[in-house]
Amino acid sequence: MTKMRFDVLTLFPEMFSGFLNSSIIRRAHEKEIVQTNLINFREYARDKHQTVDDAPYGGGGGMVLKPAPLFEAVDALLEGSSKRPPIILMSPQGAPFTQQKAQELAGYSHLIFLCGHYEGYDERIRQYLATEEISIGDYVLTGGELPAMVVMDSVTRLLPGVLGNQTSAVTDSFANGLLEHPHYTRPAEYRGYRVPDILLSGHHGKVEKWRRQESLRRTWERRPELLRSVSLTPEDQAFLRKIARSSDQE
Ligand code: SAM
Repeated sequence: MTKMRFDVLTLFPEMFSGFLNSSIIRRAHEKEIVQTNLINFREYARDKHQTVDDAPYGGGGGMVLKPAPLFEAVDALLEGSSKRPPIILMSPQGAPFTQQKAQELAGYSHLIFLCGHYEGYDERIRQYLATEEISIGDYVLTGGELPAMVVMDSVTRLLPGVLGNQTSAVTDSFANGLLEHPHYTRPAEYRGYRVPDILLSGHHGKVEKWRRQESLRRTWERRPELLRSVSLTPEDQAFLRKIARSSDQE
């Protein structure tokens, strides 16, 4: 049974074909865990030329998406349905997207994405149609399509049955608040570069301890602010004190 339905309102549905037809995302659709509907909201523009944008009131450059096509496209999607799913406006002014947000969204069975374009959208879309706004980072893209794909991808891989090895989503970076430990595979030595001996030891307990410590080390080195929101055992804290001391001595 489908666990997630994505409705994407976009003027450029063709941008999604590579994404939907490749790799894990394609398989999630083939297995019918996910269903994606691409809706070109130009079809909801009533005038002869199917106009979706207009010049901004007050003057200035750029074109602004008109409210009617998006409002009416959402009305059509929700007709006869009593539940209102999250209606997510992709916007560089939105809340920064995080793994925690991906986990929250994976708990729903239906999400609607509104992809802006051009200068942006009429503010009434944000105020009265969208239920939330998401940004994928502090930079500006030409449209909301890539940001919607980013969110859809990260949500899809969290749905049960999508990843072959379900544990990988559990140990991924950010899942437990830390960056993930490094990985190695065969051969044990390449161009003289060796895999850490502990990983070849076959000692499960020691490997787990090494992974935890490397995950802490990475996070401490690269994203120390993340450590403030993670629950750390006394052993973790002792390890972090040790690496802090040794870096002071360097
Ligand atoms: N004038 C707008 C502003 O300064 O906030 C930027 C408009 S941008 C050129 C066009 C559209 O791309 C936006 O309406 C939004 O849908 C999408 N977009 C651009 N950057 C984004 C980001 N970082 N995260 C999410 N959506 C983004």
